Amino acid sequence: MHGKELRKHLVIEVVRIGQRLVRDDRVTTHVALVSRGFGAERIYMTEVNPEIKDTIGKINNTWGGNFEVEFIEKWKTIVKKKKDEGFKIVHLSMYGESINDAQEKIQEEENLLIVVGAEKVPREIYELADYNVGVGSQPHSEISALAILLDRIQNGKQFEKEFPNAKRKIIPTKHGKNVQVKETRD
Ligand code: SAM
Repeated sequence: MHGKELRKHLVIEVVRIGQRLVRDDRVTTHVALVSRGFGAERIYMTEVNPEIKDTIGKINNTWGGNFEVEFIEKWKTIVKKKKDEGFKIVHLSMYGESINDAQEKIQEEENLLIVVGAEKVPREIYELADYNVGVGSQPHSEISALAILLDRIQNGKQFEKEFPNAKRKIIPTKHGKNVQVKETRD
């Protein structure tokens, strides 16, 4: 299952859409962390606490990589722009086609914009999406749905990705902790 190489030309970005009655910074931060940790390059967000950008910036600073958080006004503008640029839109929804049926087709795509909801998802996204994908047909969370989709698309190879300029790098070990610390002057 994990046989395919991580394709260097695969570009994955994520957008979180929908209105929340109560802003939930922790879930929003976790959506960004999963995006970063599972191989996406950027996340677009609306209605967000600006501190989330600082949190992710500090993670990049310590653990490397160039993952970007971009605040946007309107989700539709970015979805349409990305479609025009040739990105395929994958909308995660419990009502969508089963991930078990969709994953092989999506694996063939090169540029993906993954759309996750918060609470209320506008109906229009179902029409704009190239793929509406269900990770099971039970309600759960955008964090879990996103993690599973990113893993299915990349077959686990996302965990072999390098995060350049890291100050700390974990050397996986069966027991205890092994962390390489790069000396810096700042
Ligand atoms: N009732 C809401 C709706 O229909 O829009 C669901 C909101 S859910 C808390 C937040 C997001 O998690 C959804 O918009 C979707 O992106 C994702 N999600 C939840 N369960 C899912 C599932 N089984 N498959 C795929 N995505 C799911």
